[in-house]
Amino acid sequence: MRCWSESATTGEGRFRVNANGKLLDVWLLVRCVSCDRTSKLTVHERASVTSFDPAELDRYHANDPELVASRLLDPLLARRNRFTLDWKGAWRLDTSPAWLDEAWPVQVEVVFEDPIPVRPDRLIAQGLGLSRNEVLRRIKCDIPLRRPTSAGFTFTVMAGD
Ligand SMILES: [Zn+2]
Repeated sequence: MRCWSESATTGEGRFRVNANGKLLDVWLLVRCVSCDRTSKLTVHERASVTSFDPAELDRYHANDPELVASRLLDPLLARRNRFTLDWKGAWRLDTSPAWLDEAWPVQVEVVFEDPIPVRPDRLIAQGLGLSRNEVLRRIKCDIPLRRPTSAGFTFTVMAGD
């Protein structure tokens, strides 16, 4: 039976390295979330062994979680394998409950645990319980609020009315 699910997960994150003479194929294994079928995302295809940094090759063999994450975030890999990542619900903003008692304006520093692309206006609205209009009115930020970022940034919350 054909499965129509479009969602797959890397689970624990495993690479498969296949040697063919002096050429290597490297795949990232992903599993369909509804039928459990495993498929392979091509990371390297028929690449010469000598083109690999030996340390990188070790990390593929060791299924290095950081390498799994960085490969998944690589736009080239996504394009080659025709997938898009779904970040819905993949983030939250942890805030200290004390922040509302501070004197205005309040400066907030956002630190990412993983480089997941998030729109700052959404992150701030959800994290601080503000409406989108309040975000536009009360937030001062050096980076564009509507453009997704995956690097840390700082913003300032101005006093409300
Ligand atoms: Zn499936």
